[in-house]
Amino acid sequence: MALVTMREMLKEARANKYAVGAFEFWSYDSAYAVCAAAKELGVPAILQVGPYEKEFMDGYENAVAMAKMASEHFDLPVAIHLDHAETYEEVVEALEAGFTSVMIDASAYDFEKNVELTKKVVEKAKEYGASVEAEIGKLAGNEGNISNDEDEQTDPAMAAEFVRQTGIDCLAVAIGTAHGFYTKPPKINIDRLKEIAAVVEIPLVLHGGSGTPEDKVAEACGNGIAKVNICTEFIAAYGAGYNGQNTEGFKYNVLSLFKEGRAHGSALAKKKMELFLTHKI
Ligand SMILES: [Zn+2]
Repeated sequence: MALVTMREMLKEARANKYAVGAFEFWSYDSAYAVCAAAKELGVPAILQVGPYEKEFMDGYENAVAMAKMASEHFDLPVAIHLDHAETYEEVVEALEAGFTSVMIDASAYDFEKNVELTKKVVEKAKEYGASVEAEIGKLAGNEGNISNDEDEQTDPAMAAEFVRQTGIDCLAVAIGTAHGFYTKPPKINIDRLKEIAAVVEIPLVLHGGSGTPEDKVAEACGNGIAKVNICTEFIAAYGAGYNGQNTEGFKYNVLSLFKEGRAHGSALAKKKMELFLTHKI
């Protein structure tokens, strides 16, 4: 099956109160782990690439080739998505390589500049038929320090206006989650999410899904979140599977050493995907 955009799969997810899992991948093996889980559950998959994965795979074209291989192997709808691009040039590079979806994150800029850059990306993505995700509001960074300051979270009226002006396909919102693992329990603002979902019709995206309390993630998926990003937890599960292997007495069998990483990664992905289906109708 050819790679697809996120457009249809996320529309369907939002309409039916579930979310599609989006996982960072860095090899055919990790793409395989995600797709195997998705196939088992009968859901589509989103494979994401950020700057580290791009470097590890030596460029976007290789990433597209690996995602395609996994999609074909499992005969599964798979979107390959660029995570958190901060420049127009980065987006164009990914689209040229065959990405079916991109995120432009201009949320650090003021509203006008965010709209301007996002609109430019939407125009360009149209040429390739790719879907576009953008962000409004401030998400806490990689250090796990989360802000519970509601002023920094996504403002519903601004979000509605942003979507109207830019024509994006899905919107990442800040409702109290953070990237990376948490150093203290996060306070997820479901009320804010409901307010946003009441005025924004397009699918919403939850970043910082790793380590977020499961009941809150499930509740978010029943209230407008149609895509949940899982990066840190997936990589950690995968790595733990590898690191637990003992090389003593190793006899040329690649499976004995490397199958466990994939199995651990796949199990984590499946567990998350099931969680995102909690309130499916
Ligand atoms: Zn993110």
